[in-house]
Amino acid sequence: MSTQAHGTPSQENSLGFYGRHGGQFVPEEIKIRLNEVADCFNTYKNDKDFLAELNTLYKHFSGRPTPIFYCENLSKQLGGADIYLKREDLNHLGAHKLNNALGQMLLAKRMGKTHIIAETGAGQHGVATAATAALFGCKCTVYMGEEDIRRQELNVLRMRMMGAEVIAATSGQRTLKEAVDEALDAYIKDKNSFYVLGSAVGPYPYPEIVRHFQSVISFEAREQFLDMTGALPDMVVACVGGGSNAIGMFANFIGDENVALVGAEPGGIGDKTGQHAASLVYGKEAVLHGFKSYVCLDEQGEVAPVYSISAGLDYPSVSPEHAHLKDIGRASYVAVSDKEAIDAFFTLSITQGIIPALESAHALAHAIKTAPAMKGKKILVCLSGRGDKDVDQIAAMLKENKIQMP
Ligand SMILES: *Cc1c(COP(=O)(O)O)cnc(C)c1O
Repeated sequence: MSTQAHGTPSQENSLGFYGRHGGQFVPEEIKIRLNEVADCFNTYKNDKDFLAELNTLYKHFSGRPTPIFYCENLSKQLGGADIYLKREDLNHLGAHKLNNALGQMLLAKRMGKTHIIAETGAGQHGVATAATAALFGCKCTVYMGEEDIRRQELNVLRMRMMGAEVIAATSGQRTLKEAVDEALDAYIKDKNSFYVLGSAVGPYPYPEIVRHFQSVISFEAREQFLDMTGALPDMVVACVGGGSNAIGMFANFIGDENVALVGAEPGGIGDKTGQHAASLVYGKEAVLHGFKSYVCLDEQGEVAPVYSISAGLDYPSVSPEHAHLKDIGRASYVAVSDKEAIDAFFTLSITQGIIPALESAHALAHAIKTAPAMKGKKILVCLSGRGDKDVDQIAAMLKENKIQMP
């Protein structure tokens, strides 16, 4: 099987640019290390043995292929478009993160690296990385903001159970941005380490690597959808944090001009600085963490504090390929509020018996909002993860009367 997407209009060049975005804005010592990773990736990305090993792991460790599910009850209730889900929530560990962690782990193995370093925000990527490191018998160090460690106790424990060391990032806002800074420092210091990056962000070659491994989502979904319905979807929707599940979901549909691609960003509680994390909708072009893309900036032009109800979506920048798809008009991006996401979270749970991750609920909310006016059409939503991890947070909000059970 190939996870290669067809028909992408992305104007990548050797420096990893997507139109004006992307690149490799890093010091020389990191550039050397990144180019070793790029060489390894380019050597193995279409290698038969490498793909066979990856596909065995996808199948037997993660449980791929994930199914497509037709939401009959929800579609009937909305009375418009038919809504389908690509069930990435059914992967081992409950999200799409493992698709990428497994792929990068195999690159680390080919490079002979035995120390895995990763950053994590909500902890989902940290958990996926810890699991793959355990599977391959590697040392694993995960950097996580002190604030996130406090908020995501359960994921910290899961990582530790699988043998990872979790190190608190204690500078600045003490969240994902600081965790990335500290993880990069550790990576530079240890030449025997491999950096497993969790989303389609960062300097070249990471956006390309993550897209490659996540594109298995649409590689499966496009064929499954055709088999199931005899047609392609009219609209494909995915939530966008760093943009990895969305680029994986879009990749094999980019060449299908009649398929609308929509990314749902975390609109939080408003459009002011600090109220959201919607970098494509509200951000400006800037360089952060070694690549150029849209970034949430404050009035002074500094990286803004970001907020979302969903910890997995609050990163102040986004995949450079999404920035390019926005610029050329091939995909569109919308801001979905906390409230809309919570409503969608409850709606899917009650109508279909599937509790979605709060991240995925953002994509679902957009489908629910647009479906009534799309009678006769089909919408395919990437359900990036399951919501079990969010039940505590929802319970606390219910208890404090911040939200009501519908
Ligand atoms: C991490 C995460 C996301 C956001 O990351 P992307 O790179 O934008 O995909 C979305 N959904 C779930 C379930 C996640 O764990």
